[in-house]
Amino acid sequence: MAFRIQAANGISGKDALDAFSKACKFLEKSNLAKEIISDLRDHNKIITIKVGPGLVDKYRHPTQPTDSAFVGTVEWDPGYALNVVDKVKKRPQQSWVPNKKESKPFWACCGTRAPIDHYGTIPPEVCLMHELGHVLQYLSNPDEFRGLFRKPDGMENVLGKMEVEDINTAAVEQPVILELRAAGVNMGIRWDYYHTAD
Ligand SMILES: [Zn+2]
Repeated sequence: MAFRIQAANGISGKDALDAFSKACKFLEKSNLAKEIISDLRDHNKIITIKVGPGLVDKYRHPTQPTDSAFVGTVEWDPGYALNVVDKVKKRPQQSWVPNKKESKPFWACCGTRAPIDHYGTIPPEVCLMHELGHVLQYLSNPDEFRGLFRKPDGMENVLGKMEVEDINTAAVEQPVILELRAAGVNMGIRWDYYHTAD
């Protein structure tokens, strides 16, 4: 068992563990999610999953090369769902599931306003999957992953971070959502990491 569950922000250890286990069970309707979760669970390094209301979902990777048995921390709010924008330009042939924001008519970007094509919501479980996708990215090549966040001179690598997000969104988040939809669970999807509506 390579997941170490840590409760945060006032919830009990049992509630944290229950929320995580329930999310994994939900995600395992997707074969890709099932495979990734099982690979991470069987990994010989320990992945800390901090669970609590009000946390901002993220993965904190080890910033220095280390032999430590621990490979960073995922922070996850089991109550947080992400509203997304589905721009038709980017959208392959997929059905759409509207959410509460569907009626909002415009979005603003780069100084222009354009009609919204669709809104949707990515549930908390898939937000967790996104962060686990980052863990997988890190484990695949820790040095390269670190380099995509910080340049050798210590400066932030903005383009590198975008690359990490683009790869994770396309290779993990989208296919998992499509598999969950195929299994009968409807939810929103974003075809670009930055198509968020919150
Ligand atoms: Zn991310």
